[in-house]
Amino acid sequence: MTAQLIDGKALASTVRGTVKDAVAQLKAEHGITPGLAVVLVGSDPASEVYVRSKGKQTIEAGMNSFEFRLSVDTSEKELMGLIERLNTDPEVHGILVQLPLPAHLDSKLVINAIHPHKDVDGFHTTNVGMVGTGQDAIVPCTPRGCMMMLAQIYPDLRGKTALVIGHSNIVGKPMGRLLLNADCTVIVSHKSSTNIPELARMSDIIVVAAGVPGLVKADWIKPGATVIDVGINRVPAPENGFKDDGTVKTKLVGDVDFDAAKEVAGAITPVPGGVGPMTIACLLVNTLSACCNLNSLPEPVLLGA
Ligand code: NAD
Repeated sequence: MTAQLIDGKALASTVRGTVKDAVAQLKAEHGITPGLAVVLVGSDPASEVYVRSKGKQTIEAGMNSFEFRLSVDTSEKELMGLIERLNTDPEVHGILVQLPLPAHLDSKLVINAIHPHKDVDGFHTTNVGMVGTGQDAIVPCTPRGCMMMLAQIYPDLRGKTALVIGHSNIVGKPMGRLLLNADCTVIVSHKSSTNIPELARMSDIIVVAAGVPGLVKADWIKPGATVIDVGINRVPAPENGFKDDGTVKTKLVGDVDFDAAKEVAGAITPVPGGVGPMTIACLLVNTLSACCNLNSLPEPVLLGA
């Protein structure tokens, strides 16, 4: 059997198109342009890439993008001062502080300084608590993207058994809560769990976000199950040859042994081109939703997001 591929690149492109249309409508009917402020402290190369990509896609969706690049030795007071300004700026509807922050800054404190209605990453304790209690709130982007991908396969998730591998605050835990809110029977596992292969074999849905290349093997997967691979790992790829400096080229892989797993699963996401593109698309969805909410306007319906 060859699994149905859940094409995150194509779905993300559709979502971005829908957001763009809704933004145009918001401008035409209400004269409002959603604005996203992204704050980057320091110059971590991976964070630089994400911030650039977020800014580009925000502008392509017709929104305003505000970037704040602060030096690595920015004090907590300076950063809090900027967040306070952005909280009260009527042109800013979403605020995202790129993580990880330098070690001298307390990320929990910083995230909780963002106004919950502008917290488009969905990491503020208020949003976490509201999602956890099944209330409407801003949902973290990656789990939101995973739910949209699952909606491509299941019109109704009720009663499905779902295993989440990984329990980070940004992916695994909110993913578990969203699946529970959708009335799945949910198991959230992590690196201290001892029986993940057996748990996986009883699951209709596996969502893995562990950061361990090839962790999920084909024989862990119940035939026909849906596998959502959140992992992004850069591994050596000698088959691709060598770089100019003589080191071996690398490639991106997920947390699933994809080639073998696709012969057992019913549906599966690839890496790259799966969950990754959905994350930024959902950031745009969250910014649009935040803008509507802050302006007391109804939220547009966006593909079951
Ligand atoms: P994290 O390091 O914060 O958490 C990893 C989680 O996996 C922990 O709960 C840990 O207990 C668990 N874990 C680690 N090894 C395990 C094992 N062998 N068996 C079972 N559980 C194990 O990571 P994170 O921020 O949640 O990210 C996880 C992965 O997802 C990374 O590869 C990251 O790059 C990727 N990621 C992708 C996106 C995206 O947009 N596609 C977004 C966020 C994270």
